[in-house]
Amino acid sequence: MKGGVMAEKIDLGKKVLSENDRLAGEIREKLSAHRIAALNFVSSPGSGKTSLLERTLAALKDELRIGLIAGDVQTENDANRLIKAGGRMVRPLVTGGSCHLDARMVSRVLPEMDIEQLDLLIIENVGNLVCPSSYDLGEDMKVVLISTTEGDDKPLKYPGMFRRSSIMVINKIDLLGTSDFDMAQVKANALSINANLKIFELSCRTGEGLDAWLDWLKQLVGEKRGE
Ligand code: MG
Ligand code: ZN
Repeated sequence: MKGGVMAEKIDLGKKVLSENDRLAGEIREKLSAHRIAALNFVSSPGSGKTSLLERTLAALKDELRIGLIAGDVQTENDANRLIKAGGRMVRPLVTGGSCHLDARMVSRVLPEMDIEQLDLLIIENVGNLVCPSSYDLGEDMKVVLISTTEGDDKPLKYPGMFRRSSIMVINKIDLLGTSDFDMAQVKANALSINANLKIFELSCRTGEGLDAWLDWLKQLVGEKRGE
């Protein structure tokens, strides 16, 4: 009977994910119909997702209309930081304990946003490199952040996340040399999991490397608009 219980659990898990995929498909269709580019930011806690978003908003808020969904387990702190940074369309998404966002949560807050007025939607996921990789939120791409204060073997420890991401941002390059973090090694590790990863190296603190990221973002939005 044990096998039966296990099989039921697996079936339930599959059902949850297939329902998630269906909702994510609806979100993707809606965003695409309005030619809105959408990114899902994932990382461990403390890699700098909110800091990168603050920098991005400060630099592009007059150029691009950016909507933000700020996922957090318990607080609206990140959403408040993003509003302070100039975000005009920021929605907090407090999961109340869940360690990832799912498509149902996103489809619940999306109607509160005037998406006709958006060029770009960025979803800041909960800080966690495990289950957010399994939940499609209707994004065009996942952006995985890693910082130089983490282990350079993270891509090998969490391969699912690096495999399913299109972009890797290596943050806190101003702190390079203060730990054993090896830039060449982290890139080799990440590319061994996903050879197509596009990589940015930057520091949200000093601003170094930000221009390449911002240029890429503008290009992405332009391509989505069909320019
Ligand atoms: Mg954050
Ligand atoms: Zn989770």
